[in-house]
Amino acid sequence: MNEIYKPIESLDKIGKARTEKYHKLGINTIYDLLYYIPRDYVDFRKYIPVSEAKSGEYCVLKLKITGLLAPVQVRNMMIYKASATDGESDITVIIYNNFYAFNALQKNAVYYMYGKVNENLYGREILSPQCIPEGEVLIQPKYKLTAGLTANMIRANIKQSVEIMKNNPFETLPEYILRENNLCPIMYALENIHFPESMEASEISRKRLAFEEILTLQLSMAFIKSRNKNHTANIMNRNLNVNEFLENLPFELTDGQKNALDEIISDLCCDTPMNRLLQGDVGSGKTAVAGGACYFAFKNGFQSALMAPTEILASQHYATLSGFLEPLGVHVCLLTGSVTAKNRRDIKEKIKSGFYSVIVGTHAIIQKDIEFNSLALVITDEQHRFGVGQRSALAEKGNLPHKLVMSATPIPRTLALIIYGDLDVSVINQLPKGRKPVSTYAVTGKLRERAFSFVRKALNEGRQAYVVCPMIEESDSDLNSVKAYYEYARNNFLKGYSSGILHGKLSSAEKETVMSDFKQGKIQVLICTTVVEVGVDVPNASVIVIENADRFGLSQLHQLRGRVGRGQYESSCILITDNVSDECRERMKIMCHTSNGFEISEQDLKLRGPGDFFGNRQHGLPPLKIADLECDMPMMENVQNIVRKILEKDPSLELPENYCLKNSMMSLFDKEIIG
Ligand code: ADP
Ligand code: MG
Repeated sequence: MNEIYKPIESLDKIGKARTEKYHKLGINTIYDLLYYIPRDYVDFRKYIPVSEAKSGEYCVLKLKITGLLAPVQVRNMMIYKASATDGESDITVIIYNNFYAFNALQKNAVYYMYGKVNENLYGREILSPQCIPEGEVLIQPKYKLTAGLTANMIRANIKQSVEIMKNNPFETLPEYILRENNLCPIMYALENIHFPESMEASEISRKRLAFEEILTLQLSMAFIKSRNKNHTANIMNRNLNVNEFLENLPFELTDGQKNALDEIISDLCCDTPMNRLLQGDVGSGKTAVAGGACYFAFKNGFQSALMAPTEILASQHYATLSGFLEPLGVHVCLLTGSVTAKNRRDIKEKIKSGFYSVIVGTHAIIQKDIEFNSLALVITDEQHRFGVGQRSALAEKGNLPHKLVMSATPIPRTLALIIYGDLDVSVINQLPKGRKPVSTYAVTGKLRERAFSFVRKALNEGRQAYVVCPMIEESDSDLNSVKAYYEYARNNFLKGYSSGILHGKLSSAEKETVMSDFKQGKIQVLICTTVVEVGVDVPNASVIVIENADRFGLSQLHQLRGRVGRGQYESSCILITDNVSDECRERMKIMCHTSNGFEISEQDLKLRGPGDFFGNRQHGLPPLKIADLECDMPMMENVQNIVRKILEKDPSLELPENYCLKNSMMSLFDKEIIG
């Protein structure tokens, strides 16, 4: 076994305590430590004169020690001091509690020091600096620290690990890949990512490591996908069609919808389970496509299940699908957490007997005791709200059912590659005919009264409106602010109009009532939190006002805006924000000028970075440690082509030259998925 796979305890000066701290960081072996990539570097070549060091800021100074002073004890802390000079000005070096660091300093020797400078009555001080003796490598790594592991300890341990690595040569990518892509060897990369000779060397190293990380991930996804293709599934009959369904729809499908439905139907007729993502901008009509797929399954004698992330959405889908399907003799049921025990028993029975062909619900449909009769198609809506676990729990209910995932958030193509690398993608790239883009305005709070007079005008014309409240999380104090806002609004700008309040803390029954009142037009204005963000469909609503618009991501604003402009009426979105920063202004400008969700999410990605997409979302992928989704985007596209070529030539990665790739893949994912 290569020495680098030895546990970290085998390094010098690593005792039990330090081992445990490393374990907390997920570092168990020397190999893991080598992959503990620095966050940044301190470039000791960029030192400044003491006179230019600003109090409170970190900087690098080049100092000669002029005297070692007696330590001072303050309570249980030892403070060590040394006097130093850069030849022009004097400064005191202060080291807290670290005798070893202090003891290493020698009088008259010159050091590069990096630390925070402080100025007080006694002059300038540099606090607990990192010290490099003159003559050593001047670019030093900065690591994410954890309590009890100092920068010096980590550096020393990694330094030794690098030495061990150099005595035990290895490579993790095939030679031909290194050559074709102009990448440095792994040993060079791992040494220079930690202790670069120059900033260029660290960049070359980072590029190699990022490349390898993306390649391993994408290759794994592609490999899993090709593996899945080996399974047989519920094969449907290509000679059947969905003509009755199409004739019964109150509208004609757009070409985009038709294409998507064709792609899905042809997947359903294959002997491998479908694994498809249906992407379409807000309002593009994904539900109708899903309905067509369910109908096709029904004609083939199979059941379908559609899972939505909230009860509101589930009951809306239920209403839509039963409207499309019941007239054709397809029995549709709704199963959510708030169904009464008696009804639940009845529904359960009829799912098992096969009476219901389409089962719509929340995660209530994946409960253990729900047995299906012939589940062959599983659809999840707004899937990023579900954990991967929930999605696959539903899939396990059937005998390798076909899977369709509908996404409301248009995800930039490159990002989709990573998140959904294992899915095929259908895109609905147009909106139904006659839709007019939603006019969008951004205003400050000063114009709130004007905005509401606009809202009232729409209400007087018979339309309805949403007002999205200033609240980010549904904590109690935020909740109070929604309630207060609601009370205020209905006694002021909305006096004389009927309004309702909707937020996540209401019971399901309460939410249901409010939503159905709004749908039926009994409520004219819905004052709500972002619970309406996904999927809610009330075509008569034509205005949405969004308070504190600066607090939302652009994609989220686009989702919210998508609640209007769903019918034949001219619709508007009014963004209210008092934030006048350049960034906010830029974001509001994008919202006002762009109505294409894909463009907006590309912009969002540029402005805020991928955090928004990866933030709280459970995408079920190993986190990227090195690659940066934003700046490594071109690399990702390049890697996709490389992956395709590798698998074309060697589909099961059996060639000796690809052995190391298979190895990395196995350590990345559960061995069972791949092996
Ligand atoms: P989303 O893709 O955002 O989930 P929905 O499925 O909720 O969109 O559809 C949005 C609205 O558009 C619904 O009111 C639906 O009835 C309507 N719709 C869907 N397809 C068409 C079409 N081809 N022509 C006209 N209206 C359509
Ligand atoms: Mg939808």
